[in-house]
Amino acid sequence: MLDSKPLLFPSDFPSLRRRQPRTLQVNLGYRCNQSCVHCHVDAGPRRTESMDAATLDDVIAYLRKGGTEVLDITGGAPELNAVFRPLVVAARALGLQVMDRCNLTILAEPGQHDLAEFLAAHQVEIIASLPCYLEENVDGQRGQGVFASSIRGLQRLNELGYGDGHSGLLLSLVYNPTGPTLPPPQSSLEADYRRELAARFGVRFDRLLTLANMPIRRFGSWLQSKGQFQGYLDLLRAAHREENLEAVMCRDLISIDWQGFVYDCDFNQMLDLPLPADAGHGRLHIRDLDDPRTLAGRRIHTGAHCYGCTAGQGSSCGGALTEAA
Ligand code: SF4
Ligand code: SF4
Repeated sequence: MLDSKPLLFPSDFPSLRRRQPRTLQVNLGYRCNQSCVHCHVDAGPRRTESMDAATLDDVIAYLRKGGTEVLDITGGAPELNAVFRPLVVAARALGLQVMDRCNLTILAEPGQHDLAEFLAAHQVEIIASLPCYLEENVDGQRGQGVFASSIRGLQRLNELGYGDGHSGLLLSLVYNPTGPTLPPPQSSLEADYRRELAARFGVRFDRLLTLANMPIRRFGSWLQSKGQFQGYLDLLRAAHREENLEAVMCRDLISIDWQGFVYDCDFNQMLDLPLPADAGHGRLHIRDLDDPRTLAGRRIHTGAHCYGCTAGQGSSCGGALTEAA
């Protein structure tokens, strides 16, 4: 795989500083039942990185220190990891909002027959990837049969009450472009999704989040192989909007990897840009983060990929940051 990291630094992206983190995003590992073209993690069935029980204990100990309001669980397919369910149970017992970044096809994998019921029973918000409401586009990006399996997963979640608007079971869908373009305006695309998924499959959901593809790992390598890497960076940079800087997710979030090391965001995790330890030597580990308030004011490690967060309507784990330009 081609390495895009050397092409992202140095960069003229504006300097950013942290506020006190309120969201902990935990990447449980890079194993996944899919191998999507746009994946910024380079996740897939052959990856073996996976959080162990000792690191899970470190994460739960951190959550017990207070200050965290939202636990955002990602991967890979995080549900494949043995610590996924204990982490959800512990976080919910602490009263945290818990989000699962779910690829939908995992609901039909062997050993996951009760996953949908587990998520519903613990009131886990589901952030589900569905890059189009057309089968051809989804299968082209995510693999043959993924669209049909995803629709069956959504129908199962709907049966449990997800997306009905009153059960409290939140179901968000995630759109990302199929190529090196910016996402269309979130609100109009959401209306299209709502109409098409309801008419064709009887599927309902709460909101659509539009995300830009990040030029790192598998998608960065794909761009390089097509000779489109620099063109995509230029597109992102030309569409930069200063007002998005206030809301980029790294201002209020920390990301940790399957070994417990701390990063500004999942993208910097994939670029191996950890936060330095407090003493200035080595990497900061979640077990050594005694008081998250000490992170406020720290400089965020930025590069050219950060324009992927500020281009156009902006892009974060919560979708667009502002109305479309
Ligand atoms: S994009 Fe998501 S579902 Fe696809 S390979 Fe990456 S982690 Fe798995
Ligand atoms: S990629 Fe986005 S979230 Fe990550 S450091 Fe850059 S601006 Fe922040």
